[in-house]
Amino acid sequence: MKVLVTVKRVVDHNVKVRVKSDHSGVELDNVKMSINPFCEIAVEEAVRLKERGVATEVVAVSVGPAAAQEQLRAALAIGADRAILVETSETPGALAVAKLLKAVVEREDPQLVLLGKQAIDSDNNQTGQMLAALLDWPQGTFASAVDIAAQRAAVTREVDGGLQTVSLRLPAVVTVDLRLNEPRYTTLPSIMKAKKKPLDTLAASALGVSIETSLRTLRVEPPAERKGGVKVESVAQLVDKLKTEAKVI
Ligand code: AMP
Repeated sequence: MKVLVTVKRVVDHNVKVRVKSDHSGVELDNVKMSINPFCEIAVEEAVRLKERGVATEVVAVSVGPAAAQEQLRAALAIGADRAILVETSETPGALAVAKLLKAVVEREDPQLVLLGKQAIDSDNNQTGQMLAALLDWPQGTFASAVDIAAQRAAVTREVDGGLQTVSLRLPAVVTVDLRLNEPRYTTLPSIMKAKKKPLDTLAASALGVSIETSLRTLRVEPPAERKGGVKVESVAQLVDKLKTEAKVI
């Protein structure tokens, strides 16, 4: 079974993001970029499926600039077999990414596509769902466990009330949540080995997909600064402040 796993290049989660002075987006110059944490979990899961003998090949795919090769190499160091970069200098929205991924799926013919549940830069939580809809494949979102057997995937999902398990006919799309696994640390030998693994680049324009977006970002604002806290002398004072200042009770 071939598994396709998606990898997005995002601002590293430890970076304090700064809004550009013209409010058109966030500052990316000289900022540390990393593999989206949920994508790292997806890659780890795909590699574990291969280690368990369930998957035969793991292909990592990213849509982004040439620099996204760095994140694909990180996926190869975790254990993916090969990688594909769909190169574009644009910043395609979720629907455009889903359309490009669909074109890759049609070329690669995987039985399972694993994505992160969410990219930590755009926080869309849409791409996996859109891809499943475009492919007309079953989808299991927010996966905290994935079991493959007899041409089906049992996906345990984290939902508000607890856990729900759905059984999907393969091929299927699964988006992964935080508790699915803990990605391994990559070792120097695996990083060196990853440098020799195949990484193909396709121009987004060669996939015959229009990545024009109907969305326009009007303005990006930083969140309001948090005011410093105060120490209260007593519970009575706290209750009073909650009533008169915060007005929450
Ligand atoms: P989003 O819908 O933007 O929150 O992203 C959900 C997931 O879709 C991410 O965790 C990735 O696995 C995948 N994804 C989104 N954008 C890209 C991209 N440019 N390249 C590869 N995968 C992506």
